Amino acid sequence: MPRLTVVVPAYNESAVLTAFHARLSKVLDQLPLACDVMYVDDGSRDDTWSIMQSLAASDPRVGTLKLSRNFGKEVALTAGLDHVDADAAVVIDADLQDPPELIPQLVEQWQAGYDVVYATRSARAGETGLKRFTAAAFYRTMEMMSDVAVPRDTGDFRLLSRRALAALGQLRERQRFMKGLFAWIGYRQTSIKYMRDPRLAGATKWNYWRLTQFAIEGITSFSSAPLKLATWTGLAAAVLAFLLAVKVLVKALLHGDPVPGYPSLMVVVLFLGGIQLLAIGVIGEYIGRNYNESKQRPLYFIEEEHRPGARTPLHTEATLQD
Ligand code: UDP
Ligand code: MG
Repeated sequence: MPRLTVVVPAYNESAVLTAFHARLSKVLDQLPLACDVMYVDDGSRDDTWSIMQSLAASDPRVGTLKLSRNFGKEVALTAGLDHVDADAAVVIDADLQDPPELIPQLVEQWQAGYDVVYATRSARAGETGLKRFTAAAFYRTMEMMSDVAVPRDTGDFRLLSRRALAALGQLRERQRFMKGLFAWIGYRQTSIKYMRDPRLAGATKWNYWRLTQFAIEGITSFSSAPLKLATWTGLAAAVLAFLLAVKVLVKALLHGDPVPGYPSLMVVVLFLGGIQLLAIGVIGEYIGRNYNESKQRPLYFIEEEHRPGARTPLHTEATLQD
């Protein structure tokens, strides 16, 4: 029987985890597959880890993984996926915004031969108009600027086949824009539509500051278009400056030069200063990312690991030694 692992990253999700597992198990019980669940505790500060332990104690399908600190969702997800050795993996959020009831449909497409099956939201219930607008603007910008098409209105909720998993496992970059990486690996990809539910309980970890960081992350790790921005604005400024010079020259020749133009001078100086700072900032973003990659640090550390069904912790140091 083919095996499926559901990977669930969780950070301070004690309020929803039990309800989530109940709904997920109901779905897994009905699948004609050997299923297990891998919960990844991304350094939570509440009792998420102990809840995971009690879920594991009552359900032999549950495996748990505890990271040494909070590394962020993208890395938590990667840690979970690195530990999958099933035929396929499903990635799902713990807050029940991605309905587990959709998993059978994902599996269906996988069995029809697709490697990546992602779920596309057709509604964003419980989200403000501003959030919806910024999300839409982000996807459009990504589409225009990057070399791979990142599917719109798609979260991380998806199914990956074995070879897609293997491919993803080889992408060890530190700047992990998962939506982009999922798209970048290629293979046969398809989508199914669903209505996104509001969060069941707890609060989203995304404020606008984090979302902006995320957008910059997405664009800089998949496009070098912003680097060309400096070239093009520089060129445009040079052309304008040339036209202005011609105008000033002609005027001076015809009428002489009574009073030098202070306002136009200020405008030009401030405009160019602004463009230069912007361009330096853009270059800085890329250099900073280069710096992070060049350190070649491991993506995460594991504090504790329990395989499904196994009651004793697996010590990672011991396994690394032999
Ligand atoms: N998450 C995580 N580490 C983090 C932040 C979030 O593992 O540092 C998990 C979180 O527990 C949830 C999923 O990632 O299962 C999505 O998080 P959230 O609901 O905050 O994001 P949103 O649904 O708004 O995209
Ligand atoms: Mg959420």
